[in-house]
Parts: sequence; C-alpha cells; structure tokens
Amino acid sequence: MKIELCDLKRQYQLLKDKIDTYIQRVLEHARFIDGPEIEELEERLCQFIGVRYSIGVSSGTDALILALISLGVKSGDFVITTPFTFPAPAEAVSLLGAIPIFVDIREDTFNIDPEKIKEFLKSPFHPYLKGKVPLRKLKAIISVDLFGQCADYDSISDIARRYSLSVIEDAAQALGAEYKERKAGSLTDVGCTSFFPAKPLGCFGDGGAIFTNDRELAKKIRCLRNHGQAKKYKHLLPGLNARLDTLQAGVLLAKLDTFISQEIALREKIARRYLELLAPLQESGKIILPHIESFNRPVWAQFSIKVLKARRDELRDYLSRKGVPSAIHYPKALHLQKAFSYLGYRRGSFPQAEKISSQIMSLPFYPYLKEEELKYICRQVLSFFGVRKKF
Ligand SMILES: *Cc1c(COP(=O)(O)O)cnc(C)c1O
Repeated sequence: MKIELCDLKRQYQLLKDKIDTYIQRVLEHARFIDGPEIEELEERLCQFIGVRYSIGVSSGTDALILALISLGVKSGDFVITTPFTFPAPAEAVSLLGAIPIFVDIREDTFNIDPEKIKEFLKSPFHPYLKGKVPLRKLKAIISVDLFGQCADYDSISDIARRYSLSVIEDAAQALGAEYKERKAGSLTDVGCTSFFPAKPLGCFGDGGAIFTNDRELAKKIRCLRNHGQAKKYKHLLPGLNARLDTLQAGVLLAKLDTFISQEIALREKIARRYLELLAPLQESGKIILPHIESFNRPVWAQFSIKVLKARRDELRDYLSRKGVPSAIHYPKALHLQKAFSYLGYRRGSFPQAEKISSQIMSLPFYPYLKEEELKYICRQVLSFFGVRKKF
C-alpha cells in the first residue's frame, strides 16, 4: 500500500469541476491583483469565523508581520511566544527588530502554558538582556493553536488584560477549529491564518488571512498589505506587498463550502478512528495520544503522537519500510535553532518543548484518507510494538 502524508491530489479530483470553473473565471476577467474574488472570500470568511473584518494576505507569515506592525510593535519591543511551533511567529517578531520571549508549553496540549506566562511576568528575566524586560516594552503575546487545537484563550486574555498586552492568535493550523464554541481566528485582538496547501484549508500556493473586529486595525492592515496605500498613490505609511492573489482567492472560494460542510467533520472522524485504534498502545505506556481539552474542538492539522522510551526514530524507520510516511512537527525547539541563538537561551531553558520535540511524530492525515489505509497504518504502528489486533 502506498500512502501519502497529505494527499492533495485526491481533493482536487473530487472538487475538480468547481475549482477549474473558479480558476477559469479569474483567467477570463484577468484581474489577477485585487480581483472580485478577494472581497467575496473575505466576506465568506467573516461569516464563517464570526468576525467583522477579514483581510486576505500573501501568507500566514506575512499575516503575523502585518498584525504585529498594525499593533505598533517595533524595534526594541518584546513579544511573548512559544518555542514549540513552526518558526513564523518568532521570526515575524525578530524581523521587526523586536525580541521574542519564549515561554514553555503545556505537556498535554503542546500549546503555550498560561501558568508559565504568569511565572515569567512575576520575574521577567531575559537572557538577551541579561536582566529584566522593562514591562513597558512588553507589547504582545502570540499564541499558536498547535496541530489545530486552540490555546487556552480565557487564561491568556486574562493575563493580557492585566498587563495591557495585545494578543495575536496564530491560527495557521486551526482554521475551522473551535474554542468554547467560538471559531479559531476570532479569539483575540487579531487572528492570523495560512492557506499553505497542506493546512486545513489550503490554496494552490501561498496565501493567508487576518481577522479582527477592530475597524481601525482592519483599515490599517488593508493599507499595510498594499504598500501603505489608502488609495492609488496615496501612501499613508510604509507598507509591504502582502496581498492575496486573486487566483488563490478563487481556489479558496471553490473549496470553502466543502471544507465547512464536509472536510471538518471528516477530519474529526479520522482523528477519532486513530484514537480508537491506537488506544491499546497508550494503555500499555508505549505512546501518548493527542490530548484534547473538553472545551476544544480541534480541526486536526496534524495527528501527532508522542513515542516514549526514545523509540520514535526506530518507529519512523519501521513505518517507512512498510510504506507509511511520517513527519516530525517539530524536531527542534526554536530556542535551540541557530536563527534564535542570539536570544541567549540554552538547552534546558524550556524542558517541555525540548522533551516533546524528541518524542513527537505525525502520522498521515487528510480528510480523504481511506478507512483501509488508516487501518493499515494503525496495524503497522501496533505491530512495531508487538501488538497484533484484528480490525
Ligand atoms: C504554517 C504556519 C505559519 C506560516 O504560514 P505560511 O503561510 O507558510 O507563511 C505560521 N504559523 C504556524 C503555526 C504555521 O503552522
């Protein structure tokens, strides 16, 4: 059996007519920049997420950069974020000349730990300064909804209010997820998402979006994504070229209905099956399955398990020989990456992030993964640990 980690071809075959129609329409009207599909998509996303404003942008990374600029984060400021994720949040902070403050994650959800944010704020030491972060320079928290499960926003927002910090929700992996019956992307001052092809809702290249209920912020972000222009050649502030392409907006419009009405449920169904079939391995202490908070409804960007007793790489080799690909999200905590070594953190700075990066691995996951494939994958994982099950 040949299985892919994330098979996008199947989705295209299923939605081919609709996607082709949307692409054709853009080719014919030829408004490749700022075409009508952009606004249509933004409106649909507002309805879906339940926010007042949605702004299509060029990628999830650019969404984070624009969000930070729009909130006034600048060189010399500090922003709290997680060391266990894709590098984009810390990178966006760094590129603006601001300084990331990493705070360790929770062992069970892998999301930033609000208790550890509180601990940091009580004694805000940063190795970069070899001293205390002046709290007036501390501007924001970027929390990530890792693997499609929202961070704990009630606690995070509480802390943010107390210290007058803005909160950016990095929902790049979480579009379609819910936290206490509210949609990911709508949970803080500004929400950012990505339409990278392998994300829950992906386009055919790069793309992203920003969500907010704040009118002024939305206006500023719209301006910033297009060279700071309010109108043509009226540049209010230095901006970027960070627009979403019309073609990508067309692709997203073609996919959105199916995403909302079917794929979110399919993702959940596949995740439940994995949880069910792999349960014996958790019971016998071989692996740890994803932990979902009772108030969360994740969208399962990844199905990631923790493999105990340093057997992860061995399991991955075994699966690979059986035709089952896997991935590691993420093999190295960000504070140990060269790009962030200038911050002065070291091994041991964030024990949870470090431990989890040595245990975590992701199994094939996408809404059109077939039941036979899923069973095959689970049989292989079980058989690696010497467990035989009939299903
Ligand atoms: C993918 C991802 C991003 C970046 O999105 P791009 O569209 O690839 O720039 C940012 N944050 C997280 C958590 C991601 O997973």
